[in-house]
Amino acid sequence: KDVVNKIAAGEVIQRPVNAIKELLENCLDAGATNITVSYHQGGLKTIIITDNGHGISLEDLDIVCRRHTTSKLNTFEDLKEISTFGFRGEALASISQVAHVTITSKTQEQQCAYKAEYTNGELNIDTATNQPIKPTPIAGLRGTSIRVEDLFFNIGARRSGFNNHAEESRRIIDVVSKYAVHSAGVSITLRKQSDTKTDVHTPLSQSITDNIRTVYGAKLAKELLSLEHENKQLDYKITAHFTNPNYHEKKSYFILFINKRLVEHKGLKKALSSIYDGYVPKGTHPFIFVSLTINPKSLDVNVHPTKEEVIFLRDEEIVSEIKEMVAVKVAGSDS
Ligand code: ADP
Ligand code: MG
Repeated sequence: KDVVNKIAAGEVIQRPVNAIKELLENCLDAGATNITVSYHQGGLKTIIITDNGHGISLEDLDIVCRRHTTSKLNTFEDLKEISTFGFRGEALASISQVAHVTITSKTQEQQCAYKAEYTNGELNIDTATNQPIKPTPIAGLRGTSIRVEDLFFNIGARRSGFNNHAEESRRIIDVVSKYAVHSAGVSITLRKQSDTKTDVHTPLSQSITDNIRTVYGAKLAKELLSLEHENKQLDYKITAHFTNPNYHEKKSYFILFINKRLVEHKGLKKALSSIYDGYVPKGTHPFIFVSLTINPKSLDVNVHPTKEEVIFLRDEEIVSEIKEMVAVKVAGSDS
């Protein structure tokens, strides 16, 4: 059973960045407005993520890393479905299978924070008594701090595959940048543990375009067109920001959030990128940022084990409608 759990965990958490993405999503789900992430050795040695969200109650701390635990937590099942928009994971369970996890958390109601350590989904065991070590009281503000140490310590082959910490850092910066842009109303900070300088930092801005300016620069931000649209019949809402046809980037950016999750949708990426084929020089790219909210029932998230690739149940209709709307804006601003 242990082996099965580890294999399953390895599917979800393939690299440090997968853990950071899951942890960050949890902070956002918890309604945090301030999130800081620090990491060491490309996230393999340490990841510490701290938020000011609603916290985890003392009672829930016992089981929070257990597999299939979400339904047992103090939140109602359907409330949960709404707040996570159909994306149901087992992130903490998976991470605790492949790393040492410490959680410190305080809810509004509690007098103090509690701290607990986990292995393989369970509270650590006191070797003297063979009993789980209960969460211990500790000073702290409302919110949650999760520390992940020695990722893949028990999967030697996996760990030794990560010699290039710079590459892992690059991936972490990339993903956190995208969440920082998407999360208007949330201040997100990322730094390497040893650095005072930040890799990513957004203030409490109220708009995605402000965040694009902060993260990707003013030069790009002033070239953006935007689109807002709601289709009641197909039950989705879209906000998109994309560069005008006279601008191009060396690097290709297609950033897609569906129901607040950073995901991939190959068909939509291809459709929107192709709009620019006749405009931008060969080998250069537009910048495209899309945030879509759709009824979870109209979304298939089980295309890929990490749930990173999604499709819509009415895929062709939605993709072609979005393509059409973006194409009109792009063509309309050609000069
Ligand atoms: P899921 O997010 O799909 O429920 P996770 O393993 O990511 O699964 O998280 C399990 C549960 O732990 C969450 O549902 C939430 O109740 C709680 N949790 C995790 N991280 C936080 C956090 N930063 N703040 C508050 N609650 C959290
Ligand atoms: Mg989660």
